[in-house]
Amino acid sequence: MPMHNFSAGPAMLPLGVRERLSEALAPSADGAPSIAEVSHRGPRFMALAEELHQRLRELTGIGEEHAVLLLHGGANCQFAQLPMNLAADRTAAFLISGHWGKKALAEAECVARTQVVGSSEESDFTDLPEMGHLPADCAYLHYTGNETIHGLQYEHPPRVAVPLAADMSSEFLSRPYPYRDIAVTYAGAQKNLGIAGLTVVLVRRDLLERVPDSLPRFLDYRSWAKDLSLYNTPASLAWFTALEMLRWIERQGGLETIAARNREKSGVLYRAIDESDFWRNPVADHCRSVMNVPFWPADESLVMPFVEQAEAAGLQGLKGHRALGGLRASLYNAQTLEAVETLVEFMREFERRFG
Ligand code: PMP
Repeated sequence: MPMHNFSAGPAMLPLGVRERLSEALAPSADGAPSIAEVSHRGPRFMALAEELHQRLRELTGIGEEHAVLLLHGGANCQFAQLPMNLAADRTAAFLISGHWGKKALAEAECVARTQVVGSSEESDFTDLPEMGHLPADCAYLHYTGNETIHGLQYEHPPRVAVPLAADMSSEFLSRPYPYRDIAVTYAGAQKNLGIAGLTVVLVRRDLLERVPDSLPRFLDYRSWAKDLSLYNTPASLAWFTALEMLRWIERQGGLETIAARNREKSGVLYRAIDESDFWRNPVADHCRSVMNVPFWPADESLVMPFVEQAEAAGLQGLKGHRALGGLRASLYNAQTLEAVETLVEFMREFERRFG
C-alpha cells in the first residue's frame, strides 16, 4: 500500500532528494568519507556552502543589499534573536494572525519593547488582522507569512513604510515572493527546504548597523553575515539537503511551476471541504493557506477515528496541532497531487460511512 505523509514538519522530502541523501551517506567501497564526515572548512564543504548561498540568492531574488545567514536554532530562536539584533532601542511592532505570531511576540517581549498593531485573535484567527497605528520608533513590523496551525496566509506582504520582518517558516520558497522588499525573512528548513537543523535568515545589510555591540558573538547577526555563515560548525547534512532541495526546485521548473502545483493541490482539498456539509474549514477565503489546510468533521468525536483509519489506509500526519485540534493536511512543495486526491477520496468514503 503506498503511503502518503501530510506532516506539518519535519515534512516529507521529494523522492529524488531522499535518494541523493541516501547515496551521499552510503558507505563507499574505497572508504571515502561522506559529506557529513569532512571539515566544514575544507574545499568540499566550502563548495557546497557557496552554491547553497548562491542558489538561495537566485531563488529569492535578493541582491547584495541583503545578507544570507544560515543559522541554528529554528524559527523559535529567531523569535528572540531578531529583536535582540534589530530592536535594541526601538519598538518591534506585531501583526498577530495565529499561534506562531503569538509565540514570536512572547519571545520578543523578553528582550525588546513590543507593540501589537493588529490581531485577529477575537475571530479565533479565521481572518487576517486589521492594521492599526505603528509606533513612532518602530524597528520593524513582524508578521507571519503563513500560520501553519491556523491555516492562514498573507497573499502579499503588508504594505507599510517601516521595515518588514517575516516569519516564512511554512511557506518559504513555495511561490515567487518579493523577498527583496522584506527587511528580514526567516524560516526553518524542515518544511520546504529539507531537514531540521538549518535556519535561513535574509537580512538587509544596512540594518546590521543597529546591532548592539553587547550581544554575545554567537547571537550577533554580523558574525554570520560573512565567511559563508561558517561562524561555527554547521548542521552539515541539513545544508547538504537544502542544496539538493534547491536543485530539485530548479528541475521542477522553478518557483512559478511549484506555485501553480501548490495552488492546484490546495484547490482540490478546499473544494472537497466546501462541497460537503460534513467537512469544514473556518478560514476566510481570501487568506486560506496554500500550505496547511486545517479541517474538521461535523462531529468532533470523529477526529480520532479519522486519524486512525487514515493511518491504516496509508495517510499519515493528519492529526491537527494540539493547540487547535481537528485535522490538518500539509501540502508543502514535495507533496504530490496524487496524495491529495487519495486523501479527498478517503474523506468522501469516511463521510459516506459516518455522515
Ligand atoms: N513559525 C512557524 C510559522 C512555524 O510553522 C514553525 C514550526 N512549525 C515555527 C515558527 C517554529 O519553528 P522551529 O521549530 O523551527 O523553531
